[in-house]
Amino acid sequence: MMCNSCNGKFAFEMADKDAMAAAAKSAHEKREAWHFHVLAPNCAFSPNPKAYTFLLELTDQDRMVCCFFDERPVAVNKELLALLHGTDALSDKKAAEGSIDAAGSELLDMIGAAATAGKSWHHHMMFPACKLNGADGKWRLFVEVEGQQPTLLDHDSEPSLVLNRIERLYFGLS
Ligand SMILES: [Zn+2]
Ligand SMILES: [Zn+2]
Repeated sequence: MMCNSCNGKFAFEMADKDAMAAAAKSAHEKREAWHFHVLAPNCAFSPNPKAYTFLLELTDQDRMVCCFFDERPVAVNKELLALLHGTDALSDKKAAEGSIDAAGSELLDMIGAAATAGKSWHHHMMFPACKLNGADGKWRLFVEVEGQQPTLLDHDSEPSLVLNRIERLYFGLS
């Protein structure tokens, strides 16, 4: 199958949840570059408007693996997120270290307002090597809020503090 949202620039293979998770763990054990995206049905990058798409990018293997879910796949998302970012990725750290710049704060405020208004929203963290990322060599945060144009924020390094806040909002931890 081809992704219909990225101008057909990449092909992806389908897998079931267990095979997809196993492929991620195997890449992790081999210390290969990998990451994933959870694409909501209405996501700008979704190849399937009737399902949630879990898109696993095995960068070093040059493979894109997709798995479709009827409901938002929270468990496998948390499991692989912990593998990717460490088990404390979602833990309750103090936000004191490092400051969030104005653009990051603005983004967080925008997401907070959308969440308060009950709008559906989601985000994508795009690594420089991400196939969805159109920002040349930068880290891109791509946030989609129901009824709004997507908001992009490009960084020269991983915006981990902003990302941590966004993920906590996404999982209802703050
Ligand atoms: Zn999206
Ligand atoms: Zn990606």
